[in-house]
Amino acid sequence: MKSLISRSFIQKIIKSEIKKDYFKKIHTRFPPYPNGYLHIGHAKSICLNFGIARKYHGKCNLRIDDTNPIEKRSFERYVHSIKKDIKWLGFNWDGEVRYASNYQEMFYKYAVELIQKKLAYVDHLDQNSIKEYRGNFNHIGKNSPYRDRTVEENLELFKKMKSGLYEEGRICLRAKIDMYSPYMILRDPVLYRIKKNVEKSDDLRCKKFKIYPTYDFAHCISDALEGITHSLCTLEFRENRRLYDWILNNISIVHKPKQYEFSRLNLEYTVMSKRKLSQLIDLKMVESWEDPRLPTISGMRRRGYTAESIRMFCQKIGVTKQESRIEMKVLESCVRKDLDLFSQRMMGVLNPVLLIIENMKQDEEHNLIIFRHPKNRKMGVKFLKFNNRLYVDKFDFLKKDGDLDPLLFEKMFRLRHAYTIEINRIERDKQKNISKIYCQYKKKPMDQFFDKSKRARKIIHWVSAKYGIRAEFRIFNHLFTEPYPGENFLKSFNSNSMLLKQGIVEPNLLDFQKGEPFQLEREGYFCIDSTSDYSRNSKLIINQTVSLKRTKDE
Ligand code: ATP
Ligand code: MG
Repeated sequence: MKSLISRSFIQKIIKSEIKKDYFKKIHTRFPPYPNGYLHIGHAKSICLNFGIARKYHGKCNLRIDDTNPIEKRSFERYVHSIKKDIKWLGFNWDGEVRYASNYQEMFYKYAVELIQKKLAYVDHLDQNSIKEYRGNFNHIGKNSPYRDRTVEENLELFKKMKSGLYEEGRICLRAKIDMYSPYMILRDPVLYRIKKNVEKSDDLRCKKFKIYPTYDFAHCISDALEGITHSLCTLEFRENRRLYDWILNNISIVHKPKQYEFSRLNLEYTVMSKRKLSQLIDLKMVESWEDPRLPTISGMRRRGYTAESIRMFCQKIGVTKQESRIEMKVLESCVRKDLDLFSQRMMGVLNPVLLIIENMKQDEEHNLIIFRHPKNRKMGVKFLKFNNRLYVDKFDFLKKDGDLDPLLFEKMFRLRHAYTIEINRIERDKQKNISKIYCQYKKKPMDQFFDKSKRARKIIHWVSAKYGIRAEFRIFNHLFTEPYPGENFLKSFNSNSMLLKQGIVEPNLLDFQKGEPFQLEREGYFCIDSTSDYSRNSKLIINQTVSLKRTKDE
């Protein structure tokens, strides 16, 4: 498996560190916050962290960042999905799954150490005052009146905080760094706070704790405790690195990991924040975290994307420090490229209209033998029955504007894998829609039977009306009408992001597993949806994975 890191700046750093013998074995980690399912942005981070570990024969931990109170039930569901998605992407973590909450005692111990070193203090300012005292980029901050408490006083108060004597927002532990620092992050950042919602819900993990470390405090210590060598995160943590290093340099921890930042993945016409994704789910605008329209790994899997295509995509976009916006077609081309290699070619009609072959007897039947894959004949053959009533796609007989193609009777059509036909007449209903097409077919070579001036211009796909299977197609479009939906993303939700079509497919599709990819010739790549239940509904539910790129002759 190719890794995403082959041309990354991170690899350059690692190579030079290896030369200088900086570390024995590389050790990375993937630290998701369990507030939702993983998305393709996480896939970038997974391919990077696990990919580096694999390339340099090191290790990569999976650490659930669960130092905050989280509802138990959703916690378990999210952790389960995180593990499943990482494995599905083809990676495995070193040893057991780690939980940052297991390090609570150590976080507390190091906080006490900072207090003892006069590098942390308990502050009684409320949250608004803390913000006000901190100043901004243009104005330096000012010291809290509680900044110079004695070590004893601080220790006593911190102990009381831990035992739950205070309300949320009234008291916190802050690092004593520099309120005049040009870096906002160093203006006495909060290390520990109280969360009162813990008291209210019965269904919470970490309920026994009254105080919770901030992300910045817990993250660097967790990395150090696990012996992480390279802590890779996204660019918005660039400034936090100063605090990361400050904390590790001021506590008695031997191992000092280093943080490196890379740009996060931004993909057009979708949103990637779990907060936004869960809003779409809560508002029932999409079905669940596994909705095939979502950029979640589980949604993409259900839609038919392969793990290889996602890894290929991550490899293609690379790892840089430049913020960039990636077009959806980059991802789609990776999906097509991978699916093309092994997807069986099938026939299915999305907009069926009946085609009647007038010069063929009703009980006549031809057995066709067809390669399952034109380029990979090792995949074997399949059988199809051909008879006088077929379904074809009505759009093959219409012009782009929806009118009947005036050259219809001039043209000849070739039925894919079968015979050539010539249209005799077309029947239309009251609304002028095509309802039936009558034609004649030729069994013999073209010259012997048909007018030579006519050429078989178009190859069309078909399904036997007698043997075809009913199918409901789910055709997916962009989730949003804007390439970058921003904070107002709900407003640009694409109400046509999923279109349903009632069509018909060849009976061989009954042998397919749910999720197994196939190509519907001239249409695209598809798979049977995980919820499809043919025995109950006598129709297949089929997801469109990705359309085919239009070829020149279409
Ligand atoms: P979101 O805001 O999308 O919910 P997050 O950053 O809060 O994501 P975490 O669960 O904390 O999600 O992320 C776990 C890891 O995945 C982090 O190391 C984070 O940097 C990385 N990650 C998250 N989103 C992206 C992205 N879009 N591109 C690259 N890496 C990402
Ligand atoms: Mg986030």
